[in-house]
Amino acid sequence: MSQAARPTLATVAAIEDAAELFRQAKRIVVLTGAGISSPSGIPDFRSEGSGLWSRTEPMEVASLLTFRISPERFFNWFRPLAGQICNAKPNAAHTALAELESAGLKMTVVTQNIDGLHQKAGSVQVVEMHGSLRTLSCTQCFKQVEAEPYLGSYIEDGKIPQCLSCNGILKPDVILFGEQLPHSAWLDAQRAAHQCDLMMVAGSSLEVLPVAGLPMQALDRGAHLIVINNTPTYVNVRADVVLMDDVASMIPEITKRVLYG
Ligand SMILES: [Zn+2]
Repeated sequence: MSQAARPTLATVAAIEDAAELFRQAKRIVVLTGAGISSPSGIPDFRSEGSGLWSRTEPMEVASLLTFRISPERFFNWFRPLAGQICNAKPNAAHTALAELESAGLKMTVVTQNIDGLHQKAGSVQVVEMHGSLRTLSCTQCFKQVEAEPYLGSYIEDGKIPQCLSCNGILKPDVILFGEQLPHSAWLDAQRAAHQCDLMMVAGSSLEVLPVAGLPMQALDRGAHLIVINNTPTYVNVRADVVLMDDVASMIPEITKRVLYG
């Protein structure tokens, strides 16, 4: 729904229904994926046509195995994405979610994204399932450091970040293919999914397990479900509200109605 295209009556009705579910909910989980960051200019590196696929196969180069065997290959591939992440700004969807939380709604954002845009927008309760680019960890002495001082020379000059204590290579604390999800984040996400009475999926096509299973866990415990995504997801048939639309338009519309009637 852009400024030019008027929303259909069905879309307006679905937005109203979604807002009503938010008003009634006591605990909310918003599950976000790459689709919520693409309006901020961050490509979904898992999806074909993102540009990152045409050069190389992400599942191979963004894997723990490649990182171990040939870290420079990983760092070369990751460099443009790291640059986009560092320069990206939250969009209207991130901002609206942060507004809902600061207005007092009990809400947890569970995200598959590594860009930190929810926190940049002001969200506090955020569970990052695939890690983040805020910290790096030494592959030799396991020391964890803030990423910020290292990212400039990596993004600009391609300098691979190295540990000041032991010279080991510093790995971004993002979860690569073939790497376990962070256990505590997974436990937090499951707890939130089990306790919520409303889950909203926003900008995720729910194709990456085990996160994709969280809506079923919430539904099985009686939670309501809203799905906002450009493409169908496997849980659409069980959702109370489905908006096959742009999250950066829909979430602010819902938020406006929740907060201002
Ligand atoms: Zn070290």
